[in-house]
Amino acid sequence: MIKVVKFGGSSVANSKQFRKVKKIIKADPDRKFIVSSACGKESGEDYKVTDLLYLTDAHVRYGVSYEPVFKLIEDKYYSIRDSLKLKTDLETEFKTIRAAMARGVSQDYLVSRGEYLTSRLLAEYLDADFVDAADVISFRYDGSIDMERTQALINEKCTGTRKVVIPGFYGSLPNGVIRLMSRGGSDITGSVIANCVDADVYENWTDVSGFLVADPRIIKNPRQIPRITYNELREMSYMGANVLHDDAVFPVRSKNIPINIRNTNDPDNPGTMIMNDCSEMDAIEPPTSVTGITGRKNFTVITVVKSHASAEVGFLRKLLAVFEDYHVSIESVPVTVDTFSIIVKTEAVEQCLYEIIARIRKEFEPDDLRLEDHMAMLAVVGRGMKAVPGASGRFLSEFGRNSINIKVINQSADELSVVVGVENRDFEKAIRCIYDKFVAEGK
Ligand code: ASP
Repeated sequence: MIKVVKFGGSSVANSKQFRKVKKIIKADPDRKFIVSSACGKESGEDYKVTDLLYLTDAHVRYGVSYEPVFKLIEDKYYSIRDSLKLKTDLETEFKTIRAAMARGVSQDYLVSRGEYLTSRLLAEYLDADFVDAADVISFRYDGSIDMERTQALINEKCTGTRKVVIPGFYGSLPNGVIRLMSRGGSDITGSVIANCVDADVYENWTDVSGFLVADPRIIKNPRQIPRITYNELREMSYMGANVLHDDAVFPVRSKNIPINIRNTNDPDNPGTMIMNDCSEMDAIEPPTSVTGITGRKNFTVITVVKSHASAEVGFLRKLLAVFEDYHVSIESVPVTVDTFSIIVKTEAVEQCLYEIIARIRKEFEPDDLRLEDHMAMLAVVGRGMKAVPGASGRFLSEFGRNSINIKVINQSADELSVVVGVENRDFEKAIRCIYDKFVAEGK
């Protein structure tokens, strides 16, 4: 069995967290490939090393002294090294980084030093080999990851039986120059490595015990989701829930490798398992009809009414093209006979709404044009409602019983989610009533 384990920033924030990581690694000899983020926040007031490195870079760029900021970073690493009695030569490492800054170094190089240094310390502490991400994660010049080359490099560099620690969040271009991923990218590194080594599971260790059925700021102590499919997860994260970087799913999904979200601060909790297909386990323990409830506030609905327009070929396409001209991405387009509603994020049309309206009036001469904002979109996601007649009807009647007015309804054709639009002010209440009825009462 091969396990790839990735530790997020909070899991390596200080020496206390390093100790927890060691226990987790020792508890299971299959945890062979270890990917680390840069040290994150120890507490609410603390800073993430990555943020401090971006800040250092800004100081370098503007020609002001970066010393006070850089010192915070150095102190953090020295304190971890000294309290764990490690020997890693941080003095030389910082000298090299300072010299690079004096030469005028790239932002990507400087910021990548967060995961680099954390992984150096972690490798020594875990008595594992350090393998630099620059030597194994290979980018093409267009920024995409060259999986074939990465696989070949991993085969070449990670041959032994010893555990290896690899920094997350960066790799290198064909000319050897360091390149960063987008923020939160260590999740992607872990997933890419899991793909390349054909891992049996990709464990992603963070500071929550997996996914929760609903936002804990809205539902007190919501239940944890034990299993979720990749498709359900896409629906959940599209609508606002995120624990994992979106792009971390693809490399493991293509090889059917499950992701297990785990909590470094509660290692006995089994966390959430994300897989392509949960049917085997569902047969033993059937899922509830609702896997998760998520959503976002602040959408705007632009409704165009024009009689006989639906008979006109190309009407909807031309209407949507107006939004495309303004680079506004569209969330949903509920259509009835002569009514076309276009739902967009309010912030996406902040600068151009009135121009869009003016163009629609001029080019389409609608019978009526209505604007509504302060709308929230809420997604009830669940593979358990597939092929269950009346599942969405039961959600809707629950809204009715709680006097929540539904403005829009949309069910995906794969019956994985029901998306409803309600007023912003009803958002929390709507989530609560679905949670209470279908999750807490388990109906
Ligand atoms: N350290 C990077 C960030 O804060 C990458 C990561 O933690 O995944 O975004």
